[in-house]
Formats: sequence, structure tokens, C-alpha cells
Amino acid sequence: MAIYQYRCAAHGAFDRSHPIGSAAAEQPCPTCHSAAPRVFTAVSLTGAARSRTALIDRTEQTRERPAVVSAPPPRRGRGGVTTNPKHRHLPRP
Ligand SMILES: [Zn+2]
Repeated sequence: MAIYQYRCAAHGAFDRSHPIGSAAAEQPCPTCHSAAPRVFTAVSLTGAARSRTALIDRTEQTRERPAVVSAPPPRRGRGGVTTNPKHRHLPRP
């Protein structure tokens, strides 16, 4: 996520958080709801690692557009969790 700054001509600057690269050119002012243009400032990131930021972005994306699953995942082996023959000798609960 990155923080983008917008500036209303009447009410001044305000910030909005968006995934990187998805900020709109204008946002409605929180006070008067008129279109406020984006202000380009120094990069302001949350300080997270790139992989962590990507995970957060994917998580937020699935909140509104979850992946559709049409079938359960395929079972491996003969109904068991493992296919290793040595695991057959392990004690059963
Ligand atoms: Zn305003």
C-alpha cells in the first residue's frame, strides 16, 4: 500500500491509501465532496517488504473478488494424506 495525497482547492490536502499503481487522478474531498486532484509528493510507502506488500494487496483483492472454486482439491493417494509407504506403519489414533 502507498499513501497518496490529494488537495482540495477549498479545504486543503488529505491522504488516501491505495495499492501501488492504482491511485485515481482525483478523489472526492471529505468535506465538500468536490473532485480534488492528486498531488505528487515524495514516495510514502508503509515500509513493508515487497513480498509482504504483495500479500496484503492480494488479500485485499480477494475480499471483493474472491477466486471461484468449482470443485474440491484432488485427493492424493488412496484417501490418505500421504503416499509414502513408510507412513502406513505409523500408529493410528
Ligand atoms: Zn473540499
